[in-house]
Amino acid sequence: MRAAPSPEEIRTRNLATLLRHVHRDGAVSRATLAERMGLNRSTILALTTDLAAAGLVSEELPGQTGRAGRPSLVVRPRERRVYVVALDVGADRLAAARVGLGGTVLDRGETARPSGAFDPEDVIAALVEMARAMIDAAAADSVCVGVGVAFCGMVREEDGVVRYGPNIGWVDVAFGAKMTEQLDLGLRVAVGNNANLGALAERERGVGEGLANLIYLHGDVGIGGGIIMNGELLGGEGGYCGEVGHMIVNPRGRPCACGSRGCFEAEAGELGLIAAAGRTDPPGQAAVDAIVEAAARGDAAARDALHQVGEWLGYGVANLVNIFNPSMVVFGGVLREIYLASAAQVRSRVAVNGLQAVRERVRLRTSTLGGDATLIGAAELAFTDVLTDPLQTLARTAAARA
Ligand SMILES: [Zn+2]
Repeated sequence: MRAAPSPEEIRTRNLATLLRHVHRDGAVSRATLAERMGLNRSTILALTTDLAAAGLVSEELPGQTGRAGRPSLVVRPRERRVYVVALDVGADRLAAARVGLGGTVLDRGETARPSGAFDPEDVIAALVEMARAMIDAAAADSVCVGVGVAFCGMVREEDGVVRYGPNIGWVDVAFGAKMTEQLDLGLRVAVGNNANLGALAERERGVGEGLANLIYLHGDVGIGGGIIMNGELLGGEGGYCGEVGHMIVNPRGRPCACGSRGCFEAEAGELGLIAAAGRTDPPGQAAVDAIVEAAARGDAAARDALHQVGEWLGYGVANLVNIFNPSMVVFGGVLREIYLASAAQVRSRVAVNGLQAVRERVRLRTSTLGGDATLIGAAELAFTDVLTDPLQTLARTAAARA
């Protein structure tokens, strides 16, 4: 039997819960917090006083409510004082953002690069430079409480080792450890799979806000999947659940980078689209946009290619819907444009191949966080420590700076 939690553990848990409400919603009244957390007002007052003293939140009077009586103070995150650095390693870009507590993007930068194999040391050096620039530009009294990285491949989350990043040619790279060492902030750099983080971001702040059962599909050179079921991200035995890009949709189809044939990403991803359109453009957002624009102008080859790719995308989505019974499938990365240009095919495939009982509940949507879903997810990953133990994390960060 577990021992009952100590008063100190209960206080830490309540501080974390309160800060999570404020982080997610931006500004919450003390009265609402009391109601949501099932605590009395004096306990909420004690908790907000502690968080305010640590510089995590501020309290202010709300605007006129028109109601009689003393108004309840509104608790806000101190977004310019407490922030994280989020980084995103995509197949064809590196992106960085400084994101304040509460989720506001305070600063953002991006470097495009041709897709293909990349030396890990070069990528790490570029990311460290981007992160340093963002930290140097922050106000002197502000504090970085975490660094999170979204990576386009299979990541062992506990130590940030990239097990397999086929589209940039990485196998077993100690990415998180090297980033931690080279950034040298006294903070562990957390690394996660980009599609998993995109799923979390869409659930926290995007089109899937608050949903318990959601699948996020991220397209770049490949297709990654993040699957949230019953409110939790599915991890699997090694944390690699969701490699939907290598689900076979066409056994006699195109060869895939993984060595198989007819994988979802080989048929429905940007490589499949470019090949189907008979083009030789280098893969990337620009190539996808060019085909979508050509189809809109009436180019027959581009239209046929989108029609074909929409079919394969529909088969894959129908499989996922039948297996997982999500309430929403979100298309992110280049799959946003591919889906929008082929939605009729995707929907008709789901209508034909999805089981009635599951398809009648599912909504197909594009990411509202746009190209930043994975970056916002990396920020949420970076906020994990401060949202788990706010005061301890802040004290540790201050000690590391000193
Ligand atoms: Zn494959």
